[in-house]
Amino acid sequence: MSGETTVLDIVIHSGTVMPMTDRGESFEGIVGIRDGRIVLVEPGCEDPIPSRETIDASGCIVLPGFVQAHVHVVQSLLRHQADDMALLDWLRLRTWPYEASLDGDGVQAAAELGIAELLTGGTTTVLDFGTTHDHDRVFEAAEALGIRMISGKTHMDMGEGVSPGLLEDTERSLADAEALGKRWHGAAGGRLRYAVAPRFALSCTRRLLEGCAELARRHGWLLQSHASENRDEVAAVREATGMGNIDYLDAVGLTGEEVVLAHGIHLSPEETGRLAATGTRICHCPGANLKLASGIADVPALMAAGVPVALGADGAPCNNRLSIFQEMALAATLHTLRHGPEAMDAWTVLDLATRAGARALHLDGVTGTLEPGLRADIVVIDGSGWSLLPAGDPAARVVYGATAADVRDVVVDGRVVVRERRLRTKAPETIRDHAVEAWRAVRARMEEVIP
Ligand SMILES: [Zn+2]
Repeated sequence: MSGETTVLDIVIHSGTVMPMTDRGESFEGIVGIRDGRIVLVEPGCEDPIPSRETIDASGCIVLPGFVQAHVHVVQSLLRHQADDMALLDWLRLRTWPYEASLDGDGVQAAAELGIAELLTGGTTTVLDFGTTHDHDRVFEAAEALGIRMISGKTHMDMGEGVSPGLLEDTERSLADAEALGKRWHGAAGGRLRYAVAPRFALSCTRRLLEGCAELARRHGWLLQSHASENRDEVAAVREATGMGNIDYLDAVGLTGEEVVLAHGIHLSPEETGRLAATGTRICHCPGANLKLASGIADVPALMAAGVPVALGADGAPCNNRLSIFQEMALAATLHTLRHGPEAMDAWTVLDLATRAGARALHLDGVTGTLEPGLRADIVVIDGSGWSLLPAGDPAARVVYGATAADVRDVVVDGRVVVRERRLRTKAPETIRDHAVEAWRAVRARMEEVIP
């Protein structure tokens, strides 16, 4: 800061700073923000630096904003309405009828509920999956509430038991996505981006999957889908195509460094090798996988093979919370069953939720660490919660001890979006009331669609 006279926009001081650039590094220090970017990350708290807003982080842990590489904010109104089912029934009897019954108002209410939960829980960046329609409303909610979001409408032009309102014409589906991407990719100063999102192999004709891959590559957009979440799904793909799921996705263009596949549970060693060789990303969603009894992805084996891995909560109807803390705690404990107590330590898991998550989404250099020059996406975690005390390795305190309720302040793109646990960008009461009211309207329409 020597010789620097310009007043900063925000200074966060006196906290335990974890930049997440080097494993194990933390120090008492200061983070300074100007024009949306981090300009200062330094040990020490001596001289007060002039700034427009000051956040005293005494007793707190200061981290990069968390990254979730697989969520569905549009499903948030279906929370607590689709419990105790396996994946394919969960889709046919609940999720598809719900998505078919959403109108634009319902999409907005769901997106705002999901984004408010994510932001107040410290998640500042998501890769998000939409439904087939009204996807502008999701981007509008993300723009207003202030989250960093990569998102896309989903695609589906076939499938057994799909609610009629969701089945799309193949070419129209692709044209809608292209129009959305042209409108939203790079919007809000680059905070919003587009990702092409075919739902999964069983929901899309080969022409649609190939069209999605071609569309994304032509524009330089990410691709996202679901893969190998459930044994019945994998068997159905083999029956329909004569190929393993990952082999089929590879054949239609849905592998590569720009592809993020959620789950990756039921994989052969050859499929894991193919994911690694192509640079395809896997998003590990342990909370949703346990609830739907889908299985446990062998994340230590994926990582050892060189597959880039990130974390995500998936959707509210299959989790039922969008908390990165829940996913981190599960990721840090589940894999001990197969690999022993050292399978995934707290620093490794915290890296997946920050730096590695950002890298998986090609957002390294933008977010995921605390370094001068990066966009200012920062989380302040209150260290005074009972389960964070009395002391210990800061990564262990966060991964094993903290919950979303311990998140006190959140900055995204240099804007304070949560302060003292309250969302600043829209009245929380309005979001809550709208969610309850919109769910009532959607439920009434769902009764006519559920098979
Ligand atoms: Zn999902």
